[in-house]
Amino acid sequence: MPLTANDPNRSTWLDTPTNTDFPIQNIPFGVFLTREDIITIGTRIGDYAIDLGALHQLGYFDGIGLTDDIFMQDSLNDFIADGRKTWRLVRNRISDIFLEGNNKLKDNVEHKSIVLFTLDEIEMQLPVDVGDYTDFYASKEHATNVGTLFRDPENALFPNWLRIPIGYHGRSSSIIPSGTPINRPVGQTKPGDDGVPGFGPSKLVDFELEMAFITTDANHLGERVSIDEAEDYIFGLVLFNDWSARDIQAWEYVPLGPFLGKSFASTISPWIVTLDALEPFRTNGPTQDPSPLAYLQHGENKNFDIKLQVGIQPEGDEETIVATSNFKYMYWSMAQQLTHHTVNGCNVRSGDMMGSGTISGPTKEEYGSMLELSWKGQNPVQLKNGVERKFIHDNDTVIMHAYSEKDGLRIGFGNCSGKVLPAKE
Ligand code: MN
Repeated sequence: MPLTANDPNRSTWLDTPTNTDFPIQNIPFGVFLTREDIITIGTRIGDYAIDLGALHQLGYFDGIGLTDDIFMQDSLNDFIADGRKTWRLVRNRISDIFLEGNNKLKDNVEHKSIVLFTLDEIEMQLPVDVGDYTDFYASKEHATNVGTLFRDPENALFPNWLRIPIGYHGRSSSIIPSGTPINRPVGQTKPGDDGVPGFGPSKLVDFELEMAFITTDANHLGERVSIDEAEDYIFGLVLFNDWSARDIQAWEYVPLGPFLGKSFASTISPWIVTLDALEPFRTNGPTQDPSPLAYLQHGENKNFDIKLQVGIQPEGDEETIVATSNFKYMYWSMAQQLTHHTVNGCNVRSGDMMGSGTISGPTKEEYGSMLELSWKGQNPVQLKNGVERKFIHDNDTVIMHAYSEKDGLRIGFGNCSGKVLPAKE
């Protein structure tokens, strides 16, 4: 099916700011509360949120096989489960409705008043009910840096890392939408000389710059997804801040890996940008040496060129960009991650979320966590106005940005932000 919505020559009759993350070529999907406090599935063009439930009721999706209430839900799970053909029909139709020259909705003042919202009238919700959340560890630079800092610079990467897309099963209940504040977590930390563990608010709260992809139902229990089909089951992506408490993590992670140092919160950007919208930004990933086993081998262009930024904004101060990275640095592609995830027959469902792991690049400015940027606190990161940070302080807001740009077309994700409040007593 042609992705007519991707046509770079299309423009919309809606007023959109120049350089918006959400031109008519994006058409992301999300869930929001309307000004009437009704929850609905929607999309966004420029600074307008568009109620897809209302558009459907008004007949704008006639001819596409959709159930009546598909967009009047509090999650996208059922729509995502309808599969890629339906996603494409709907995204193309939305593009047609708002296309310059199509006056059907444009000239219908009553319909427009029902369907269109300004951003200050709505409240974004989680876009999916996340059944399972898996976090990979797919950036070679990040894995090397962490191996160097926590273990041994000579053997920073374990031998399995170059063979397996390493991951662990995370916690879905604490995934929250951008703008939701979090409390500094409390927990156990490494014992001092007396052998007794420390206990209290984490002193080393960190962000992890990640992207996450959201799947549709991919396989039945016991079946595998082949590498050639893997992308068919990826609906889209969000920005993902996998908040981490490094001191809690350092004490608890042997032998079973991350636990409470990771599960207190993960913040996502609320609009899911479809894999289809990112099609123009395909690129090759890093060369894989040694060559992966046959079931993980794929052709060209399975990575995506998405520019990433992290900013820190202290209370009452301005934001400083502390890191810039790129999703294309991922050593293991999303297709390889999903294929590996199902190789044992593990079933993946609609609304599952797969984090990439921290995406660090080759240079120091491209490290995706304070752990790496400050090199475990040895080199404080300079912010504007003489402020410095080794890790995240109370009342700091961490803001992530992501967008792709090529030949004048920009497809972005909006912000993924979260403020760290003091620990609860
Ligand atoms: Mn992570």
